[in-house]
Amino acid sequence: MEQRILVVEDETGIADNITFALQTEGFAVQCCTTGGEARSCLAEGGVDLVVLDIGLPDTNGFDLCKEIRKVSDVPIIFLTARSEEIDRIVGLEIGGDDYMVKPFSPRELSARVRAVLRRSGRGAKDSGAPAGSPLAIDPNRKIVTYFGTPLELSRTEFRLLEALMSRPGWVFSRDQLMEMAWEEPEASLDRTVDTHIKTIRAKLRAVRPDINPIRTHRGLGYSLRESW
Ligand code: CA
Repeated sequence: MEQRILVVEDETGIADNITFALQTEGFAVQCCTTGGEARSCLAEGGVDLVVLDIGLPDTNGFDLCKEIRKVSDVPIIFLTARSEEIDRIVGLEIGGDDYMVKPFSPRELSARVRAVLRRSGRGAKDSGAPAGSPLAIDPNRKIVTYFGTPLELSRTEFRLLEALMSRPGWVFSRDQLMEMAWEEPEASLDRTVDTHIKTIRAKLRAVRPDINPIRTHRGLGYSLRESW
């Protein structure tokens, strides 16, 4: 059965590009340009994921998302044109599942849509299993293997990598990573995150020099590569 994506975006050029890309990937797409229309579409049901622009003529994506969250856990991917909005989204208080910063490539959005659907357990049942990540955690032995090779990680490096692996593709700020990986975050300096990421990268590179799975997002933080 086709999965239905609701695109809420008032810029028709962007909406058209997104629709085309998603339809090419086999999704059924419904577009609307206002929060009001989005509410009626959602009330009808059957929406598997919402692509939600933050700047809408009659409301904003944040408020609409909060409204949706009261009644539904449908995955939501935000579209934003402004970097100051990213902090709010990344803060996770809003309840979105991912975000894209304009301008973005529609293909990249399609990849995010698939990833979010997969994470939320709504992935297409009939599609082939996605290529597994070469990074795996052995929860009993507390070790990470990379292409089958166990990595020798310090405790902090392990927890940092574990944090990034919990949400591939998601951009974690340095503060978030510190909260997740340090026992006493207040006692550390911000730059130590960078230092540890550097040593993790070196250990990954020792296994596969041709791949850099940890992405730096300038001014934002780090993410782990999502598709392999
Ligand atoms: Ca807009």
